[in-house]
Amino acid sequence: MLNRASLSSALRRCLAELRPAHFLPAGLLLLTCLPVTQLAGRYHELADLLPLLPWLLMGLGAALCGVFQRWQQLLLMAWLVVLEIGLMRDVQSMGQPSFPRPAVIADFILATTLWPAIYSVAALWSDGRRPLPELANRTLLLGIATLGLQYLHRHPDLALIRQLGQTWWPALHAGWMRLPQLSYLIAGAGTILLGLGYLLEPRPRHAVSWLILPFCLAILPHVFIHPLLLPSFCSLALLSQMATLVQESLDLAFRDELTGLPSRRALNERLRQLSSQYCLAIVDIDHFKQCNDRHGHDVGDQVLRMVASRLRQGSRGRAYRQGGEEFVIVLDRCDTETARPLLEAIREDIAGYPMQIRDVANRPAGKHKNLRRPGQAPASQRSLSVTISIGLASGNRQSGPADVLKQADKALYKAKAQGRNRTVQA
Ligand code: GH3
Ligand code: MG
Ligand code: MG
Repeated sequence: MLNRASLSSALRRCLAELRPAHFLPAGLLLLTCLPVTQLAGRYHELADLLPLLPWLLMGLGAALCGVFQRWQQLLLMAWLVVLEIGLMRDVQSMGQPSFPRPAVIADFILATTLWPAIYSVAALWSDGRRPLPELANRTLLLGIATLGLQYLHRHPDLALIRQLGQTWWPALHAGWMRLPQLSYLIAGAGTILLGLGYLLEPRPRHAVSWLILPFCLAILPHVFIHPLLLPSFCSLALLSQMATLVQESLDLAFRDELTGLPSRRALNERLRQLSSQYCLAIVDIDHFKQCNDRHGHDVGDQVLRMVASRLRQGSRGRAYRQGGEEFVIVLDRCDTETARPLLEAIREDIAGYPMQIRDVANRPAGKHKNLRRPGQAPASQRSLSVTISIGLASGNRQSGPADVLKQADKALYKAKAQGRNRTVQA
């Protein structure tokens, strides 16, 4: 059962997982949407080129998605292009004598209601393990949705359009709302679900899918006023999706998947760029093997994640997972007098952290699985206390980081010999 404590600890865990770097490239790209539109409006060459750009980017994006086997992103990119094609033909036909008014209204209302709904479904539909059926299913969804939009453009169903565009709850309709009420409801629900999706699996691709939805809603009321706004948005959204492919590849190479911390390879890169005064600390979880043996490997992984998230929140320095249950904290431009209290604060924080566990290994199996041993707390309420030992060493221009790490390792060995749960300086 969910209670307030477990909810707040889940929320804390989620917030600790949130990484601004996942949102930054796409956020910056999408924010340039208006300046790009204004710039393109000033130069004829750019204005002519901009409507072609989504096509070029879609070609490049499709090739990259094929290489990386990212069918979810391929579908999202294609769906962005469908939006651009669908509305741009209306934007371009504006002012012409044959301006198809009912079809344009139908397109706009569908673009603001149906488009965000399908986008949310597609963004929540994660990639599975069978690439070909996945690709076929996604193509089918996209194909049916696109044909549906095309049919309604040619034969606008005015009753349906009126229903979609209606203000169902006048009390909830604010003056700034320029789109049908349903658009805000659908996009709001999509944004919440995509936000939860990101918190459950914090990856750049989910962060970007989440960002695109509110940005799209913000630009849609202006696409007929600024004809180049839609191709700018679409191009930047496609670029954001492609940027996540690069970002996730870098993560694969330089980030530890279990803990989310930078990996040993990233540590080696960092060690090459240290200044003339620095400290290195090796952090090792105490009796971790026992923890694995007693509570199971899954709980061991939870402990690693918890320790990593506490290390990440340290006020200074950057933590790296060196391997197994060992981490390295790099404190650049820092001497041992400054480093020691910081490390002690981290050590005490972890020692005092009540980690709630589901003790799978000790739970009786079968139909008696809800029973527990006499005197044993219920599985959901059991907490585990974890301690760490730290070896600290400082370096300067003369000492190579590899030697400083060796000294820190020796200090860690002493910390273990002295009884663990302490910091020892080389
Ligand atoms: P000490 O206090 O002396 O450090 O003892 P320890 O048990 O922590 O150290 P030891 O080196 O004996 O055991 C480390 C254990 O860490 C053994 C290994 O199975 C476990 N381990 C390494 N990587 C992982 C991982 O990714 N997940 C889990 N669950 N366990 C891991
Ligand atoms: Mg160890
Ligand atoms: Mg250990």
